Amino acid sequence: MKRRKIVAGNWKMNNDLNEALGLVTEIKGIVKDEVRNDAEIILFPPYISLASIAKNIEKHPILLGAQNVHQENVGAYTGEISVSMLKSVGCSYVIIGHSERRQYFSEDNELLNLKIKRAISGGLVPIYCIGETLEERENGDFWDVLKTQLWEGLEGISAEIAPEKMVIAYEPVWAIGTGKTASTEQAQDVHSYIREELAEIFSPETAAQIRILYGGSVKPDNAKELFSAPDIDGGLIGGASLKSRDFCEIIKAVG
Ligand code: PEP
Repeated sequence: MKRRKIVAGNWKMNNDLNEALGLVTEIKGIVKDEVRNDAEIILFPPYISLASIAKNIEKHPILLGAQNVHQENVGAYTGEISVSMLKSVGCSYVIIGHSERRQYFSEDNELLNLKIKRAISGGLVPIYCIGETLEERENGDFWDVLKTQLWEGLEGISAEIAPEKMVIAYEPVWAIGTGKTASTEQAQDVHSYIREELAEIFSPETAAQIRILYGGSVKPDNAKELFSAPDIDGGLIGGASLKSRDFCEIIKAVG
C-alpha cells in the first residue's frame, strides 16, 4: 500500500501576521510553478495567523495545522485553544507532543494521550511527536524511551481509526535545530522499529498504513536521501520551513 508523503512546516514562535502572509504567498507561488509531485503540504504557523492564512490558501492544496491544542474542548482555561476553535479557522492537523512542549511545558505521555484522543474525536489529525535525547541515545535507553512514548501516548485509540486519523513524527531531540541530522540509516532503523511497535499496538495492516515522518535538521541537501528510505513517509521541518526556497526544495525532494 502506497503511503502519500507529507512535508510539514513547523514555524514555531516565528513570523508576525504580515511576515506569515508573505511567507505563505511565496510558498504558494513556488509550489504552483515548480512542484509536480503529490506531496501533502501542511503549514503550522502560530495561532494568530491561522485564520488569515486559511483565507490566503483557499482553493490551494496546502493544508493548515496548529502547533498545539488543549485537551478540553471548552471552559475556564485562560490562554488555551481548543480543537473546535482550530477546526473553525480551517485547521485539519495538529502537532502533539513536540519535544519543545515536552521539555519547556512539562507535557507528558499521559497528557499527550488526552490531547490525541480529543483531536481525533473532534476531527483533527494529530501528528504525534516522539524522540529521544542525546543522553538517551548515547546510553542506549532510547528504544525503551520510544516504546513508552508510543504505548502511553496511543493508549486506548482504536485500530480502525488510526491509519487515516493519525501520523507519527520521529524527532530525535539531539537533531532538532542543531544542524545534526540522523543518518538515513539511523532514521530508517527507528522508523522500522516504530512500525513494528504500531503493529503490536494496533495491527500489522494498520501499522502499514500509518505515516511516520522524520524531523530534525531536514534541509534541501539531505531530504531526498531521507525520503527515499522505505519507512520514512516525509518530514516535519522546523528551521528550513521558514525560508520559502528551502522549504519548497524539500517538497520537491519527495520526487
Ligand atoms: C522541529 O522543530 O520539528 C524540527 C524538526 O526542527 P528543525 O528542522 O529546525 O531541526
